[in-house]
Amino acid sequence: MIDRLKEIRERALSAIEAVSTSEDIDKIRTDFLGRKGALTMLLRGLGAIPPDERPKAGQLANAIKGEIEEALSGKSGILSRGEAASKIAGLDLTLPGRRRPVGSLHPVTQVMAEIASIFRRMGFAVAIGPEIESDFYNFEALNIPSDHPARDMQDTFYVDEKILLRTHTSPIQVRTMQRCRPPLRIIAPGKVYRCDSDVTHTPMFHQVEGLMVDRHVTFADLKGILTYFIQDIFGSDTQVRFRPSFFPFTEPSAEVDIQCVMCRGAGCRVCSRTGWLEVLGAGMVHPQVFRNVGYDTEEFSGFAFGLGVERIAMLKYGIDDIRLFYENDLRFLNQF
Ligand SMILES: [Zn+2]
Repeated sequence: MIDRLKEIRERALSAIEAVSTSEDIDKIRTDFLGRKGALTMLLRGLGAIPPDERPKAGQLANAIKGEIEEALSGKSGILSRGEAASKIAGLDLTLPGRRRPVGSLHPVTQVMAEIASIFRRMGFAVAIGPEIESDFYNFEALNIPSDHPARDMQDTFYVDEKILLRTHTSPIQVRTMQRCRPPLRIIAPGKVYRCDSDVTHTPMFHQVEGLMVDRHVTFADLKGILTYFIQDIFGSDTQVRFRPSFFPFTEPSAEVDIQCVMCRGAGCRVCSRTGWLEVLGAGMVHPQVFRNVGYDTEEFSGFAFGLGVERIAMLKYGIDDIRLFYENDLRFLNQF
């Protein structure tokens, strides 16, 4: 028994020594230590030997089993390190990596940044404010009476009776005037919300509101600054026209048109054959708005304007459906 144990030990150790792959290691483990392996089978015959020899044979068998297991795991470690190294040796580490596509700014973000940079050059600072507003800042302070159609439930998203999603960024004008004394020159870009959806309207869109207040600000300043802005963004040969209009928070008020960017004034479907396209609303700040924030209407005057960023982007890039901006179609977005 002892001799046969020693013989198994020799065979196992020399087999392990000679092995060269991880698969062969597994085979040796099965051949010697498996359920039908040589050592296992031999131990089953332990009961047949004389009782006084059994403890010694048992001890030796366990020692040999331990020795074989140790040799197997040592060799298996060496082999797997070698196999990993040869896998790496087969790779070309000088090949360039896989590039991920680089994203870019959304066209609305780009146009908003361009608008802001034009006004910044003229000394306007950027001001921001909350998207959830009170009735006071969105309507009351801007001289929009409670029976004005702009307050209609159909246009405004109300949170409750006095809280709403702002319908324009004009509340920022009021907040800024409450905080600062003139001279003031700000633009207020941001998201606004109206219950409206078709090819030219989305329930959320972006607006840039502007405000300039100082001594002796006149309608001529308004015309000069807005004409400069429009010709910067649409081209220096763009014709601009100011049309009388009405807004509750400005007096006098004007709507500003540019010569149609599609037909250059000849008349087409986009401009409804008029040759002109409306791009923004503007006017001299209504005295009641100044009184609401405690400005002296004898001392100060100012103008305000508001424009839709998506509309400017649509005209600038010739896009005919506003919803394209919000469908996240990369084929569309990649063009900008
Ligand atoms: Zn046209």
